[in-house]
Amino acid sequence: MFTKENLIDTLVHQGKRKKLAEEMAKLGIHNPNVLDAIRKIPRHWFFPKDFEQFAYRDAAFPIDYGQTISTPYTVAFQSQLIDINKDSKVLEVGTGSGYQAAILSEMGAELYSIEYIKPLLEEAAKILAEINPKVKLFHGDGSLGLPKHAPFDAIIVTAGAPIIPDSLKLQLKIGGRLVIPVGSEKENQQMIRITRKSNTEFSHEKFGDFKFVPLKGNQGWEI
Ligand code: SAM
Repeated sequence: MFTKENLIDTLVHQGKRKKLAEEMAKLGIHNPNVLDAIRKIPRHWFFPKDFEQFAYRDAAFPIDYGQTISTPYTVAFQSQLIDINKDSKVLEVGTGSGYQAAILSEMGAELYSIEYIKPLLEEAAKILAEINPKVKLFHGDGSLGLPKHAPFDAIIVTAGAPIIPDSLKLQLKIGGRLVIPVGSEKENQQMIRITRKSNTEFSHEKFGDFKFVPLKGNQGWEI
């Protein structure tokens, strides 16, 4: 449970983040804005106080309701793939802990993030309010996107989908990117980037295997 006393950020935490960013760079993360955001955002704020010693390992960690905070490498890799700049309007599907949202907003994105588990969203909202109150949070089925706020420069899905939802592709601007893990419900998914070339044309690129909790909902797995 988040309380304001958790918001401590010591030189030790900062040193661990510097090391984590170096580790990410060695693994191939080269976008300086992503590495800067890893250095700046206190990942331990998104962990229960008793488990904060796990915050700066490159590992996923369970959060409530059977969900996870993705590995720092996965967060960095997806943040790099969506290829955003300070003016980008971005939708994140799967707010979870809020850590990825904090990273993207630190990179300058105008960020919309949607989560279908309300208590998770409420916890994330408390931490994000301290980091960047401009992040716009929504409760609902993100497999359908956020049509009222579309189009987006980029959409990042942080849960494993069975298919590439047309609903998300069609909420991209021309030139916009959708980064989404697609594959099995329980095993690995392949990271895919779709770029909207025109109203009707989309290109697809594949970026290897990852393992996410399932995307549920209308265009996801059954709830
Ligand atoms: N980005 C998150 C972070 O930084 O902690 C990682 C989140 S976790 C790997 C995936 C999240 O997607 C879970 O919180 C899950 O509840 C959420 N999710 C799954 N299906 C969803 C849907 N249809 N709409 C919105 N959120 C969904």
